[in-house]
Amino acid sequence: MNNTTVIIGAGISGLLLARGLAARGAEVVVLEKSRGYGGRMATKRVGEASFDSGAQFFTVRDPEFAAVVADWQANGWVKAWPDSPHRRLVGVPAMTAVPKALAEGLTILREHKVTAARRHTCGCWELEIENQGLISAERLLFTCPVPQALAVLAAGEFTLPSTVGPALAELTYHPCLALLVSLAGPSAVPPEGIAFTEGPVRWLADNVKKGLAQTAPAAVTVQASAVFSAQHYGRPEAEIAALLLPVVERWLGAPVVSTTLHRWKFSEPKATHTERCVWLPELGLGFAGDAFGGPKIEGAAVSALALTQAVTPHLQPAR
Ligand SMILES: Cc1cc2nc3c(=O)[nH]c(=O)nc-3n(C[C@H](O)[C@H](O)[C@H](O)COP(=O)(O)OP(=O)(O)OC[C@H]3O[C@@H](n4cnc5c(N)ncnc54)[C@H](O)[C@@H]3O)c2cc1C
Repeated sequence: MNNTTVIIGAGISGLLLARGLAARGAEVVVLEKSRGYGGRMATKRVGEASFDSGAQFFTVRDPEFAAVVADWQANGWVKAWPDSPHRRLVGVPAMTAVPKALAEGLTILREHKVTAARRHTCGCWELEIENQGLISAERLLFTCPVPQALAVLAAGEFTLPSTVGPALAELTYHPCLALLVSLAGPSAVPPEGIAFTEGPVRWLADNVKKGLAQTAPAAVTVQASAVFSAQHYGRPEAEIAALLLPVVERWLGAPVVSTTLHRWKFSEPKATHTERCVWLPELGLGFAGDAFGGPKIEGAAVSALALTQAVTPHLQPAR
């Protein structure tokens, strides 16, 4: 019987959890379906332009998270959003900087999509990885959006106990359409970006003014509102661009060179679970992420810290 702890997802919660458990002596393997680290803390390159396409910045309220962020700042991984009156922090040189730095030294298998998780009579987990075979684990910790975790368990014909299953099944997410717009010249977007409270667009920012390193004159991230994103999610990219660009035209200030659409199916949890994490020691099964700690980077991080604390006393093999 191996004593491996497998973490599904190399977003901010999976990486903090992996580092926390590894620091306590656990043998940790992170499985990530994508090629990169960071999940929704994503940076995308399109030609000469670089865009933060998911999370734009983060804020800090929780004292435990503040201590973690103080380290990030001391290491130069984050800084204040330039020219912004708000207390917003951004990655240096982009939002992926923090996940990339946290990933250093961890065992992370990228392009490893877990498609099913089976519980064996021996008390271990067997994970089916798309095109990669099987991996077994003593403990299984999900940090991906909850519907994706439940799909993996369902594919392995595992039924969660009735004390947690129904509550987790209720955790659903808003989608978000993010349009990444390259311009021929400097934009007229204010340096601190614009958060809209109504209409089809919820956020607009120029990644050049934000400080992302690039040679493009302007790289504007346009995020659609939850209502617009849900209504138009499956439409062709050109139609979505044709609906969103006129709304932000006055802030563009230069001709559009190209647009690229990123569809976030699970952008933001609609509600937060009552507990900061779920840990079922008798099953060696846990859940963390922003659906538990709150719908932001800070919420994902505090959830990971909570699951680290919960799992630590159970790190020795049960048998
Ligand atoms: C458009 C957008 C804008 C946002 N803006 C902000 C903001 O300004 N400020 C803020 O604080 N927060 C913002 N957020 C929210 C923030 O990004 C998230 O709360 C946070 O990054 C969630 O981290 P996580 O680790 O819980 O999940 P994720 O980042 O989603 O990480 C989960 C990981 O699991 C992987 N995965 C999923 N299924 C599998 C599988 N079957 N096998 C293997 N790997 C799998 C995914 O590829 C992903 O890397 C935004 C999010 C979006 C999408």
